[in-house]
Amino acid sequence: MFLRTQKRRFAHLATSEPAAWATMPCGAAMCWRTSPLKGARIMSQDAAATEQASTTTQPVADEVAAAAPALRGTSKDLWKVSDAVERPSQQVPVIADVDVLVAGGGVGGVVAAIAAARYGARTLVVETHSSLGGNMGPAMFVGGSLHMALHNPEAFPNGLGGIPGEFNRRVVAGEDRNVGADYFQDHHSVSYVASKMLEEVDAEMLLSSVVSGVITRGNKARGVFVENKSGTQAIRSKVIIDCTGTADVAARAGAPVTEMPSNPSAGTFFAIANADWAEYEQALAARGELPQDDQDWMQAQVCPVADRFMPWARAAWERGAFRIVDTVDDFATLEATLMLSKGEPPLVYARTRVNGNFNPGDGLAMSRIAQHERTYIYEFAAFLRENVPGFKRARLHVVAPLTCARGGKSIESTYVVTHDDVARSARFDDVVCIYYDDKQYYPGGCDIPYRMLLPKGVEGLLAAGKSAVRRGPQMRQRHTVQLMGQAAGVAAALAVKHCVEPSEIDVAELQQVLHTLDPELDRRGT
Ligand SMILES: Cc1cc2nc3c(=O)[nH]c(=O)nc-3n(C[C@H](O)[C@H](O)[C@H](O)COP(=O)(O)OP(=O)(O)OC[C@H]3O[C@@H](n4cnc5c(N)ncnc54)[C@H](O)[C@@H]3O)c2cc1C
Repeated sequence: MFLRTQKRRFAHLATSEPAAWATMPCGAAMCWRTSPLKGARIMSQDAAATEQASTTTQPVADEVAAAAPALRGTSKDLWKVSDAVERPSQQVPVIADVDVLVAGGGVGGVVAAIAAARYGARTLVVETHSSLGGNMGPAMFVGGSLHMALHNPEAFPNGLGGIPGEFNRRVVAGEDRNVGADYFQDHHSVSYVASKMLEEVDAEMLLSSVVSGVITRGNKARGVFVENKSGTQAIRSKVIIDCTGTADVAARAGAPVTEMPSNPSAGTFFAIANADWAEYEQALAARGELPQDDQDWMQAQVCPVADRFMPWARAAWERGAFRIVDTVDDFATLEATLMLSKGEPPLVYARTRVNGNFNPGDGLAMSRIAQHERTYIYEFAAFLRENVPGFKRARLHVVAPLTCARGGKSIESTYVVTHDDVARSARFDDVVCIYYDDKQYYPGGCDIPYRMLLPKGVEGLLAAGKSAVRRGPQMRQRHTVQLMGQAAGVAAALAVKHCVEPSEIDVAELQQVLHTLDPELDRRGT
């Protein structure tokens, strides 16, 4: 184990040329240039990127503008173009050299970055949004089975350990409202604790920035291109950890990825204030069981959650006032569900459910869903207020800026954990953490092997969280994602320390470090 001993933020400017980077000695100083990029070195994105993105060149844009009236039609018509244009060659300024670059500052990425920085690596997290935490931060999905990590005595007799345990305990302690026994909802606390813990270990953050491409040297990932208000910029790294939730970096680096099957169950979280939950429950109780006719109507609308909004939803629908089920083009349906009422003053937590045939890695599909959700949520709140007992004074309190989905791309791991592995509580020599199924408890849980974090085909790259989880065993639970992030962060730091690729590290040393973080990390049996 090695600990950072001195503050190295804003260290010396690196002088190596891009071509020399692949062989750059380990421990070279991180170079972080703030804007303006005085004297920044320039990389050719064409030469270095593995991915050629398509952008509209000016002549084409002019042609499109000239033809605009003819192109107008439904929004579906707009997206029917299937063509490609050459992207002009571009010189890209290099703004930083880091040891470990974490792409995505969500549930797994934050823990991965804390772990990497705590174990000596100069670490940078790049996050699309302006606040950290991903599904637990701006997406506001804070509760759920995270309670298992905090309070499940069978799986975690002493609570979740290591950095994830520390992180979650600080989140709960920092909550300024809605403190619950086994469920917490304060996403502000998540983003706050994430920032504080990263600052404490001198990890850098680049927020409001999208990782848009990967710098490769042969089959080695050696940095990323980012897009933000400054345009395209390059950051070189020794190890990248893909924590984007959809293996975006791995895919762009050319690693094989698996697309999840359809219906990834996306949703956006929101909260409603000033509702009288008791009055609402009383009205439902007084209504009693739904008449068959109403049940048939619900069935016809393919709306499994409308029960709790009947008969008011049907009446509003038939008046033409509000449709409890929205359809997104021809690929998804959208409805909302009220989850729980909690806190003082009470807030009703709610989320949309988007079901259908779409891929969360499809930018256009996700944009269409987001567009529908924003109007649906507002109108749903108005529907409640105007029609449903208990919501007369209700108002929309907050809507998450980020829509999340359970599915999406994931890496083709060197080893894929299967349902069978979980059912037999599989043990692996390269265990880095344990997965406990939150629905069915298998004594001892199932080992997650280090190989699960290693993508095939590309070196210099690890994945953690949903990017590493194929649909199958539900290993995308937040506490499992955090444990994977911790393992990936320490592994990346060890790779940097020993000047080797992540696939070449001594797994026994990784396990030793992980044990110092949590002695029960690979606890056997119960
Ligand atoms: C509707 C829903 C309900 C759920 N309920 C539960 C539950 O009850 N209990 C439970 O344990 N789990 C639940 N989950 C699952 C859990 O929340 C996720 O599996 C987990 O958050 C995945 O963590 P992650 O770090 O892989 O991804 P995320 O937390 O999604 O983080 C990914 C981060 O990467 C960023 N990012 C993405 N692409 C880029 C890019 N190109 N450049 C820069 N940044 C990028 C994103 O903005 C985000 O911050 C639920 C998930 C959903 C969608």
